[in-house]
Amino acid sequence: MHVLITGGAGFIGSHLAEALLAADHRVTVIDDLSTGRFANIEPLVASPQFHFAIETITNETVLDRLASECDFIYHLAAAVGVELIVRSPVHVIQTNILGTEAVLRAANRYRRPVLLASTSEIYGKSEQVPFKEDDDRVLGPTTRSRWCYSTSKAVDEFLALAYHKERGLPVIIARLFNTVGPRQTGQYGMVVPRFVAQAVAQEPITVYGDGQQSRCFTDVEDVVRALLLLAKTPAAMGNVFNIGGIEEVTILELARRVLSLADSTAEVVFIPYEKAYEEGFEDMRRRVPDTSRLRAVTGWQPRVSLDETLHRMIAYAREQTNTP
Ligand code: UDP
Repeated sequence: MHVLITGGAGFIGSHLAEALLAADHRVTVIDDLSTGRFANIEPLVASPQFHFAIETITNETVLDRLASECDFIYHLAAAVGVELIVRSPVHVIQTNILGTEAVLRAANRYRRPVLLASTSEIYGKSEQVPFKEDDDRVLGPTTRSRWCYSTSKAVDEFLALAYHKERGLPVIIARLFNTVGPRQTGQYGMVVPRFVAQAVAQEPITVYGDGQQSRCFTDVEDVVRALLLLAKTPAAMGNVFNIGGIEEVTILELARRVLSLADSTAEVVFIPYEKAYEEGFEDMRRRVPDTSRLRAVTGWQPRVSLDETLHRMIAYAREQTNTP
């Protein structure tokens, strides 16, 4: 197969590209390097099976050609990261909605199946954990920028499902829960790479709020395996799937684990949300996925434990910073 990955120079996209090449597929990446990095795909450039375009997905001419040449599209290009969302909401809304519209329009022109990467933010601040795909969404007011991300990705989902229902375009929607692993950057807010970098540098670990909020982190290797399985499952077409880990951990516990695994003596500091993000910032207390639908159609289960992921991320951070 010839697979097109939008956002393929990003953290998840580059791992996906690597796995597809290893399975003997041809891979083309389109990425504008806004949050992705060329360094993520640099090791792949030598492969004759790998091609890339440093370009935005809203460039219709380029996207049209790439869509016509491929057999399947993974649409991962998006503005992500809570800090980025709060800082640049116009960019987030435009990138996510206009970008996805452009990808679906091009895909539909050539009838190419699309897997849309969505997010657990879709569920908003619902307290009905674990979250099932058909659950209600609970969002805060439009005056709180955080919710523009959830809303923009919900519009993407509506659009993809509409193309499926009305035009018969094969689409799959994957809602990713806190995906973590090497190459992820903490620059746009993500907690694990931030804690790892802080621990390795012996700098204070910045826990926002009281640290009792929890998440289920999923290793990128498990996420990529789920994405590959979904693409080859006919029953997945037209459906929405949660992809997430089973190990629920509070952010304070995460900080302690990172410190212990990195053998770091850095201190933990608590920072109020309004200082970390903005006045009135709303966080979710618990975020836990129900992945029974994914398991039923693909047999997928996560394999990599959080400690193993943290080990890999600590080793990667040390390598990047030349820290022993
Ligand atoms: N967080 C934190 N310190 C940081 C960055 C994030 O305590 O330096 C918290 C954040 O407030 C949230 C959790 O860690 O409660 C996960 O944040 P992230 O942005 O990684 O993902 P989210 O689940 O919020 O989308």
